[in-house]
Amino acid sequence: MPSFTGGCLCGAVRYTADGEPAFVGVCHCHNCQRATGSAFSSVVGMPEAALTVTGSPATFRDTGDSGKAMLRQFCPACGSSLFARAEAMPGMVMVLTGSLDDAGWVKPAVEIFCDSAQPWVALGGEMQRFPGMIGAPGGA
Ligand SMILES: [Zn+2]
Ligand SMILES: [Zn+2]
Repeated sequence: MPSFTGGCLCGAVRYTADGEPAFVGVCHCHNCQRATGSAFSSVVGMPEAALTVTGSPATFRDTGDSGKAMLRQFCPACGSSLFARAEAMPGMVMVLTGSLDDAGWVKPAVEIFCDSAQPWVALGGEMQRFPGMIGAPGGA
């Protein structure tokens, strides 16, 4: 079972995760682009119980494509994106892979919201690609 550690840029928020990731994926939605300040987000999905956080991340309540809440958590001191919790996925926390101390083992298996991917982004690997949410019609 992989266990990993990570934290924000300034070190005010740190975390430890123990256990098998439920999924590893990339999201190209506009809100992830804005929230990360980058072209897409990449996340490791973990059961809530597997994650221990020290420090106090700030929370922004975003609305996901489903119309349900998406809680985006970040360091209030340095602004680093750390976690996302989707109301549509109770009991699950998504850890932003850029915050990992060692992300060398991370291999995303799916890309979602490919319809809003920035045009220059073409990721390698053998990822399953979906135009929107997983399971949305038209998935390739
Ligand atoms: Zn910080
Ligand atoms: Zn997204």
